[in-house]
Amino acid sequence: MLKRVLILGGTAEARALARMLIAETDVEAIVSLAGRTAAPADHGCALRVGGFGGAAGLAAYLADERIDALVDATHPFAEQMPRNAESAAARSGVPLLRVERPAWSAEPGEAWIETTSLAEAAATPPSGSRLFLAIGPESAAPFASRGDVWCALRRLEPTDLPFPLPQGRWVIGRPPFSEEAERALFRALRIDMLVVKNSGGDRAKLGAARSLGLEVVMVARPARRDGAARVETAAAALAWLRRRGG
Ligand code: NAP
Repeated sequence: MLKRVLILGGTAEARALARMLIAETDVEAIVSLAGRTAAPADHGCALRVGGFGGAAGLAAYLADERIDALVDATHPFAEQMPRNAESAAARSGVPLLRVERPAWSAEPGEAWIETTSLAEAAATPPSGSRLFLAIGPESAAPFASRGDVWCALRRLEPTDLPFPLPQGRWVIGRPPFSEEAERALFRALRIDMLVVKNSGGDRAKLGAARSLGLEVVMVARPARRDGAARVETAAAALAWLRRRGG
């Protein structure tokens, strides 16, 4: 029997899985967040916030809290936490599942400039470009050396922090966004290039860019060791947990 499941979150998949577990099973779900936002979204279950102190800290948490299964539903671009999850699960003998939504592929009419790093993405736009950076403020540093381009940088919550790039402004917004709203935003800001991580999921900004004829710079996902069992959706994660007695 599975009694307690820890979900490493920060994604729509983590929220959906927590809600399904609460609504459809007797499993107690705890969602863990890194603490990047001041007002976390309601997950319908217990939340814990902040790092564990590396893989050893996570392994200690799994033991102390008597966790029966660990679901790593962190973002496709989270680099450290999936490694920590694998190491902690192996150390403590707790079964581990990775939930990772499929990457986007270019649809007919879309021609992306594909890059393998944010540094390469930052080197791509021609001088004088007006960029929409949908990469998260934590990933914007490579654009700091581009004093010759203007950048709109989206973040989830308002901030008093100074804008970190030479030219541009914050755009505040929490997904989901409609394609129509994205189109209106790109038009109002006179954007000519969208820079985006290949996170997968909702395609609203890609659809808006295509309809406006904007160039898209697509940053590929980080390479992964394939240690953990893996599914693509919250529903498939629920099925995996059920097969283990959830
Ligand atoms: P990361 O590089 O994998 O993690 C860095 C450190 O942050 C981890 O070593 C861990 O600290 C802590 N951490 C990360 N996720 C955590 C979680 N769910 N619960 C508790 N601690 C966590 O991750 P990141 O790229 O900085 O992303 C941080 C969070 O934002 C993740 O939860 C991710 O799902 C979410 N997110 C990331 C992106 C992105 O583009 N990277 C986009 C959207 C959402 P300790 O070693 O101390 O445990």
